[in-house]
Amino acid sequence: MKLFDLHCDTILRIYGDKTELKKNDYHIDIDKMKQGHSLGQFFAMFVDLKSTQTPFKTCNEMIDCFEHEMNLNKEAIKAGKTYHEIVNNKEITGIVTIEEGAVLEGKIDNLDHFYKRGVRSITLTWNYENEIGYPNCKDEFRDKGLKPFGLEVVKRMNDLGMLIDVSHLSDGGFWDCIKHSTKPIIASHSNARAVQDVSRNLTDDMILALRDKGGVMGMNFCAYFLDGSKASKVKDIVRHVRYIYDLAGIDVIAMGTDFDGIGGELEISDMSKMNLLVEALRQDGFTEEEIEKIFYKNALRVLEALK
Ligand SMILES: [Zn+2]
Repeated sequence: MKLFDLHCDTILRIYGDKTELKKNDYHIDIDKMKQGHSLGQFFAMFVDLKSTQTPFKTCNEMIDCFEHEMNLNKEAIKAGKTYHEIVNNKEITGIVTIEEGAVLEGKIDNLDHFYKRGVRSITLTWNYENEIGYPNCKDEFRDKGLKPFGLEVVKRMNDLGMLIDVSHLSDGGFWDCIKHSTKPIIASHSNARAVQDVSRNLTDDMILALRDKGGVMGMNFCAYFLDGSKASKVKDIVRHVRYIYDLAGIDVIAMGTDFDGIGGELEISDMSKMNLLVEALRQDGFTEEEIEKIFYKNALRVLEALK
């Protein structure tokens, strides 16, 4: 089964540890991607504001690292930006995304800069308040919406053709994106809050609104977001998929593994083991066509609608 994964933190690890994408001990390397039938991958440039005073510069260095890795492995993977590149490249397509809108440092020109560097999606916040809005990790932020700069960012991302990613964003910020975005939006790595009650997951109303907007949510393999335990199990991923399917249908479900951003015990221990999930979804009664939508077709549909 081909795969398009909406979220991984592999570049952060490579950038921090001076390791490489070709072969490593992480969840994602070139061989594991090949074994997982990867068609394309969003590589998040995750910038932790606690570890840098210069997020714009750090993010650029991470993109340098991404580009370097693409060059080193060009027989297998190629940097891309568009739906057409993903479907036409014979190699896997790597797409740069950003996780932490503070890298813009409050300047809309920096958004254009990152667009020119190939960035096609931004997770507007991580777990800190920034110039755009508030995260969903604190109750006091839950109902807070986007800030004026956040509204400006939404508009400019729509105009440029960049995917707005609401994973980590406050519920109030989510609803502002639904209201103001003229294009589909995504929650790149979030599950269902009705199944596991954590603020990183989406409520039923949010899932339905995301679907009505034409967007998708990527299933996150982090145990804490699946069932609150320390071990990430395939049956719990299926439980979230089944719940979302029964609530909102197939078209809103995608993959957002969070590989290399999550720890603990993982039954799907790296990208080469994605077939465990394919099998479990078949066992649960999902058709091949439905599994294709979950694994890559829904994500590609959203990317195609970006233009
Ligand atoms: Zn994240």
